[in-house]
Order: sequence, then structure tokens, then C-alpha cells
Amino acid sequence: MEENKVVKKSSLTRNILIALVLAIVIGLLMQNHSGFLNSYIKPFGDIFLNLIKFIVTPIVFFSIIGGIVSMKDIRKVGEVGIFTIIYYFLTTACALIIGLGSARIFKNIFPIIATTNLKFEVQAKVSFMDTLVNIFPKNFLAPMVEANMLQIIVASLVVGISILLIDKIKQDKAIDAIEVLNAIFMKAMELIIELSPLGVFCLLVPVIASNGPKIIGSLASVLLVAYLAYLIHALVVYSTTVKLLAKISPLEFFKKMSPAIMFAFSSASSVGTLPINIKCCKELGADYDVTSFVLPLGATINMDGTAIYQGVCAIFIASCYGIDLSLGQMLTIVLTATLASIGTAGVPGSGMIMLAMVLQSVGLPVEGIALVAGIDRIFDMGRTTLNITGDATAAVINTYRLRKKGKIA
Ligand code: ASP
Repeated sequence: MEENKVVKKSSLTRNILIALVLAIVIGLLMQNHSGFLNSYIKPFGDIFLNLIKFIVTPIVFFSIIGGIVSMKDIRKVGEVGIFTIIYYFLTTACALIIGLGSARIFKNIFPIIATTNLKFEVQAKVSFMDTLVNIFPKNFLAPMVEANMLQIIVASLVVGISILLIDKIKQDKAIDAIEVLNAIFMKAMELIIELSPLGVFCLLVPVIASNGPKIIGSLASVLLVAYLAYLIHALVVYSTTVKLLAKISPLEFFKKMSPAIMFAFSSASSVGTLPINIKCCKELGADYDVTSFVLPLGATINMDGTAIYQGVCAIFIASCYGIDLSLGQMLTIVLTATLASIGTAGVPGSGMIMLAMVLQSVGLPVEGIALVAGIDRIFDMGRTTLNITGDATAAVINTYRLRKKGKIA
């Protein structure tokens, strides 16, 4: 049985990898047929994404409630919550420092681009206070219907904590019901995950065919710096935290995370990667209740990759316009981008929308986003990968802490 599971898991990893390589090769070969690929192949990728979106809402809602009620002791929920939020903030701040630092070092390779004719429509201007107020749902069903993850998290926290506070007989019944619902949705999720190689292929082929190597070539410098910073953050910050705080070898960590990493890279969605990330954390020995609380929270508020991307792009855009950022402006970027990460939804492209807020905070021209918008997907693939990896580190670290304190088995 165990052996069967291992074989099944490695064949899923292998199949996603094959799908990724095939998508790149076929996408490059079919650059003249991107219209056909967008009309007839992408829709199958969209069907897969629809299924993922369909399952993510109940998974987040019931798994957070499940996570809370199974901790039974309300103080434990508070402890994991506070530790995780502080950990998320600190790693995001580190990410920004690495992003800004790398961009400053390599600033000279950034081109000064002719900045006329740049147009970028800012879709939404979100203030910090608006973000704060919007976290709290005013209707019970709206968060589910709109798939508003922050509101779903708040709703499930309220319901989960309430279950812990009702009388024992009703509480036991409620816990049974939540466990049954969790089992149903997890099974549905497993079925959908089986389709991921096909989904990855159908989503990626049209992107590669439409953008081709030329788009990669023209903005290679800024992409290179962003990917370098992503890599440094993963290899330095995550390797250190999992080694020191969870006593897991970084090699083992990244190896067991590879299915989620590949999936995040192809889908560019932290929320979409949640189910497969939960599975990888299980392989890493993380406690399920901790995982099901920490990962959805992370997929919503912890965006280290997005923070790096925003830091690198801010410096890139500034240097394209011939502007030199002061230390004060850089500190403002660290602060706003850390806060922006709370409001960044774990779906493709949302980090670019929040970049507008970061640029505005230091008076940089928002139109500069047009420079990087065309290749946003390529940035997004890397930043999402980092985002979900950071979430997983919190799951294994919290598990280790609680086990050491004897609070979980
Ligand atoms: N796509 C990213 C994610 O899902 C968010 C972003 O656009 O930065 O994590």
C-alpha cells in the first residue's frame, strides 16, 4: 500500500515534468500557430483551472475549520497563528532586501529604455485601510461565491473558534461533520490533481507559443536578476530556516516539494497549488492540522516571490526612467510591498496589480509597469514557486516546534 503510494506520487511528478518539457518544446515549435493553440488547447487548461477553483474554496474553508477544531485548545491556535504571521512578515522583509539588493548590484545591466508611449491602465488603487476593512466579510456566502480567500479565512476562523466554545455534545457532532466534509473534498481534490499533467501542458503551450524566445530575450536582464534573487532567497533563507527551525535537510525539503514547485511554476497560482502543496507537506512529515491552517493563510498573505519581483521591478523601472532611488524610498518599498503582499491574491497576475501601489508609494511612474507587463507571466511563474515554498517552510517549522513542546504527536 505504502509502496503503491510512493510509485503513484513519483509518476505524477514525472508526468508533470514531462508535460512541462513537452509544452516548452511544442510551444516553441508552434509559434506560428499560437491562435490555434489559444482557441483549441488553452480551453482544456481553463477547464482544469475551473476545477481547481471549484475545489479550492471548500478545501480552504473546511480545512481551516478542521485545523482549528482539531487543535482543540484555543491557545494553540493563537500560538501557531501569531508565530506564523511573524515568520511570514520577517521572511517577506528578507525577500525584499534580497530583491532590492540584487537589483541595485546589477542596476548597470538594466537598459535605459525610451520611455515615451508607455501606457498601462491601473485597474485598482487599493489603500491599506481598504484592504483591512475588506478582510471582514459582511455576508456569509459572498466570500465563497467571490472566492475571496482572506474573507474565507476570517469566516472559517470565526466558525472554527465558535465550535471550540460550544458545549461538548454539540462540539463532538460538529467535529464529526467537519471531518466527513473534509474527507469528501480532499478525495475530490485528489481526483482533480490526477489531471494536472494534462492541465499544465494545455495552459503552458499557448503561453510559450505566443511569447516565444524573443520576449525572453528582450527583457532578459530584469528577468535574470529577479530569478537570481528568487534563487538566493530559496537557497539561503528557506534552506536556513528549514535546517535550523525544522531540522530537515534542505535537499530533502526541496526534493519532496518538487511536485508543488513544478505545479506552481506552471500554474502561477498559489491558491491553485494549495491542494498539491498540502500533499507535499504531508510527505515532509508536517502535521495535517497545522498544514491545513498555515498553508491557506500563507497562500493568501505570504508572498515572498511577489515581494522580490516588486523590489526588482521598482528599481528596474526607476533606472529605465533614469531615476535613482534614495535609501528612504527603498525602505518605503520594503514597507509597502510587505503590506501589499497581504492584499495580493494567490492567482496569476495579481502581484503586477499590486506593483502599481508600490510604485505610487515612492512616486515612481505607474506607467512603467508597461515595461514588464508583457513578460509578467514569466516573472509570475518564479514568484509563485517561491510563494508556495515559503508557505511550506512554515508548515514544517510549526510542526517541529509543536512536536518539541509535546503539543502534537
Ligand atoms: N501569482 C502569484 C501567486 O499566486 C501572485 C502574484 O501575482 O504575485 O502566488
